[in-house]
Amino acid sequence: MASNRMVFLGPPGAGKGTHAAWLAEDRGLQHISTGDMLRVAVKAGTEIGLAAKVYMDQGKLIPDDIMIDVLFADISDTGWILDGFPRTVAQAEALDKRLAEYAAELDGVVLFEVDRQTLIDRLMARMTCEACGAVYNRLHRKPLVEGVCDVCGGKLQQRVDDRPEAVTERLAVYDKQTRPLVEFYDRTSRLTRIDARGAIEDVRLAMEPLLP
Ligand code: AMP
Repeated sequence: MASNRMVFLGPPGAGKGTHAAWLAEDRGLQHISTGDMLRVAVKAGTEIGLAAKVYMDQGKLIPDDIMIDVLFADISDTGWILDGFPRTVAQAEALDKRLAEYAAELDGVVLFEVDRQTLIDRLMARMTCEACGAVYNRLHRKPLVEGVCDVCGGKLQQRVDDRPEAVTERLAVYDKQTRPLVEFYDRTSRLTRIDARGAIEDVRLAMEPLLP
């Protein structure tokens, strides 16, 4: 049976968003990216967006209590892939607690493993559509027309947090606050490791038979 509730775990630039998008479409699941949710809030100038922007621009994490509220306001009780949540042990525990209230549990956690230099190269080359959020890469995934989104015609730009200072901070934050989740999920044997260093299509083909 196709898996209904999955977490995609891994450092920034590992490809979680790209692979979550096609898998969600393929299986009819909700793709929940907390980073995208926060960027929408920032753009709309909501109270949460204004508070979040300061942390995001510096590559730091939004405090757990805010983040947990943001996520649970949007999560459905049907199938989903979480992309970018949980990022701390407290968030993972909050998720487990919430699932337990529905007598549900995670079907699987997929860990995307990529070496540090590849992550840095990918993040620095990433371009995002300011209108629809579609993601491109100056090296491997160029738009048809430079600077213009293939999907909606919007303008492509570099995310503030893909600039060098913020990238360094985000990778350090991952090591300190998010990497402990590997052990957290390994202990409960829900973790599938994917070698995500290759090209998108190669990773996709390799991961399909391994998915929960
Ligand atoms: P992402 O698009 O997943 O790389 O997220 C971009 C930024 O949003 C992160 O660097 C954090 O500042 C914030 N963010 C996204 N998800 C979370 C989360 N689960 N916990 C805390 N901060 C988050």
